Amino acid sequence: MPYAITLIPGDGIGQEISSAAIRVIEATGVKIDWDVQEAGLNAIEKYKDPLPQAVIDSIAKNKVALKGPLTTPIGTGFRSVNVALRKEFELYSNLRPAKSFDGIRSRYQNIDLVIVRENTEEFYSGIEHYVDAKRSAAETIGIVTRTGSERIIRFAFEYARSHGRKKVTVVHKANILKYTSGLFLDVARNMSKEYPDIEMNDKIIDNMAMQMVINPYQFDVIVTTNLFGDILSDLASGLVGGLGIAPGANLGYNTAIFEAVHGSAPDIAGKKIANPAAIILASAMMLEHLGETDAARRIEVAVAAVIKTGNKVTKDINPDHFVTTDEMADAIIENL
Ligand code: NAD
Repeated sequence: MPYAITLIPGDGIGQEISSAAIRVIEATGVKIDWDVQEAGLNAIEKYKDPLPQAVIDSIAKNKVALKGPLTTPIGTGFRSVNVALRKEFELYSNLRPAKSFDGIRSRYQNIDLVIVRENTEEFYSGIEHYVDAKRSAAETIGIVTRTGSERIIRFAFEYARSHGRKKVTVVHKANILKYTSGLFLDVARNMSKEYPDIEMNDKIIDNMAMQMVINPYQFDVIVTTNLFGDILSDLASGLVGGLGIAPGANLGYNTAIFEAVHGSAPDIAGKKIANPAAIILASAMMLEHLGETDAARRIEVAVAAVIKTGNKVTKDINPDHFVTTDEMADAIIENL
């Protein structure tokens, strides 16, 4: 029986890369009934609502979604649909692997680290306002809970254990944010006692940013709060060659949404030059989640082969000799 899965194609480059991902998944032979839903800018145009109830109902029913990027207006306008979905389905864990591919010109080779970002709390709680009518000051409240910290830190340790990883680095700012970051670090230190087989250390965020650039090989699994995780995962994708190859999974207790780390890239939307690899690799993570391990591996191997060969890749990977989004997807399909 085919899997029923919600598809939110997204806006900007969303449509281009999502359709490429669907073709690749189809080519693996895994059968999926896509329930296509509009959210974000497209849904505002059609339904005057960035997150229509139909989208929520569809994900609630199917429990798994593949999502293209959604634009969030800066400063003004509607709140992030991405954040709203993570909160709605308690997708507390944002898993963002950063892995080197042969054939990508990047600062480092052989990087293989995983960022586990807390996905629902702290400065993304959406509790913010101007303090007066003149807008002379603004306040954002970042809430970190013991329960929220425990579940994400446990996720990181369990992930490390089940994936043969040796070390968990906890990133915080507990020297200044003594309560929020302090609580997170306290939970991690206590929980590490339950995982004597996994080394744990901690780093203050500013030092961490420098250490990742100077020597990323010292890290394995990194777990951190929402805002730091958001920033560090882009930094990590920069280490391995950019956002075009960085996939992510938003995981909760019984629901999962898979997407690329990158956004809607309005600067290249419609030009057919967006790299589809990130959402294709996110699709592989989705297939793995569904238990379709063989199809997932085939996709990963095919993406790696196309990137290594280097003549059927998008402009971000090979600016001297590049193909379109669809042509790169075709090459991946040929290599499956
Ligand atoms: P972005 O990730 O969209 O783009 C950053 C840079 O990377 C741009 O130069 C872009 O061209 C390039 N890039 C991104 N994806 C690429 C790809 N697949 N192939 C080739 N190049 C790629 O970040 P931004 O410009 O800061 O954000 C644009 C919009 O996306 C904003 O509205 C933001 O809120 C939204 N966003 C959404 C998500 C999401 O849906 N999960 C994540 C991040 C940002």
